[in-house]
Amino acid sequence: MSDTADQKGRVADRGRDAAAAAADRIAALEKTVQHYEVLLETSAAITAGTDLAGTLGLITRLVTERLDVAWCDLYDYEAAGDELVVIAFYQLPELEIDSSAWMGTRYDSSNWSGLDACVRERRPSIWYRDDAELLASERAHMDEWGELSNISVPLVYKGSVIGLIDVGESRSMRRWTEDDKHVLQAIADQAAIAIVNARASAALTEQAVTDGLTGLFNHRHFSEHLRQEVTTARRYGQELSLMMIDVDDFKAFNDRYGHPQGDRLLAELAEILRSGTRNDVDILARYGGDELMVILPQARANGPEPSAARHVAERIASAVRRHRFESAAGSRDVAVTVSIGVAGIGLGGYTHEELLSSADKALYLAKHQGKDQVSVFGT
Ligand code: C2E
Ligand code: C2E
Ligand code: MG
Repeated sequence: MSDTADQKGRVADRGRDAAAAAADRIAALEKTVQHYEVLLETSAAITAGTDLAGTLGLITRLVTERLDVAWCDLYDYEAAGDELVVIAFYQLPELEIDSSAWMGTRYDSSNWSGLDACVRERRPSIWYRDDAELLASERAHMDEWGELSNISVPLVYKGSVIGLIDVGESRSMRRWTEDDKHVLQAIADQAAIAIVNARASAALTEQAVTDGLTGLFNHRHFSEHLRQEVTTARRYGQELSLMMIDVDDFKAFNDRYGHPQGDRLLAELAEILRSGTRNDVDILARYGGDELMVILPQARANGPEPSAARHVAERIASAVRRHRFESAAGSRDVAVTVSIGVAGIGLGGYTHEELLSSADKALYLAKHQGKDQVSVFGT
């Protein structure tokens, strides 16, 4: 080879190196842009999100699509049982994975050393199927899903792990880069805030509608419910009953055993109501001091006796009668009774105000006739 030819060759080589280096830089930049995009999209999803489940589902989908992986799972970490629970996930549809039972799946995190590292050491953990040091249990787990490589990053809030994002690849032995780690951690940090915020606001909503002592709905929320239920029942021509329950001689109980025991009594009474009525159907509330309310949708108060509502009321009155309340901590020896007034749509009125007033009149009658009994308005 002549000197000039040799020189030309070296120049051409350098040109190729430069071109390759430029291509690498562009690829790296594209990756960075892609990472910024998924971060922006994640924060947009969180800002726009109204329901947490939908937002988290969207995040797992964004991660899967934008980072080009096979799937992404989001877990809640429950410190009490040291368990991880699937709360959102996305899988590439073309993989045709049957995930019908995946939501809510629980893992004991200590059975899985990689997740253990993620939860206890709060750092990303990575597994590769071709890693000779992979534990047999981890290999089995990866094989169950055909997983070749996997990365998990913790969801950390104020120094505690509240969950993790777990990303898997089954199509190639993907090697995770520092960039992958960083972008996933940034997404995990945002998801953690979204989860904590959503839970805090759910707790506030809960507080706003429940009575602190009994855990039943409070007066204000009950009134809204009753109005709604009455509207629905009238519109569809359905039955609806209202029960007003009042503790007999509650003042005497309080005077004799003290207010803390009185509070206990009310809390236990609420529990008797809760366990003796239909969950998710009947609506229970604390209306005032010792006055509890139950709305019985689709239950008849009037007509042939005993009506459905009287059935329920008698059942509750007798459950209270059989119960022994505490006179003091450790002494469960006081019998208490309740009076119950019942009114139903139709005979007792057509508006929620009329129903309330009829139930109140029925309750008055029950008291007047000697307490410890049920009175149905208009019968
Ligand atoms: P649930 O519907 O939340 O009812 C809770 C409890 O309220 C029942 O506990 C029972 O003590 C009382 N209760 C509700 N409806 C009636 C009723 O029509 N008559 C009587 N005597 N009591 C009633 P229980 O009996 O231990 O039942 C527990 C759960 O099992 C119920 O919860 C419901 O989900 C189911 N269940 C029991 N029996 C039936 C039934 O006959 N039909 C239906 N659809 N579900 C039932
Ligand atoms: P039952 O105990 O004599 O109740 C008669 C009717 O009262 C019920 O008819 C229902 O319309 C109404 N009712 C009774 N308890 C409740 C209640 O807690 N909440 C509401 N919303 N309505 C209540 P239904 O539904 O046709 O049930 C017929 C019978 O089936 C009941 O007669 C009872 O013997 C039995 N049953 C139904 N569900 C349950 C249940 O959850 N637990 C038990 N132990 N028995 C049930
Ligand atoms: Mg009273």
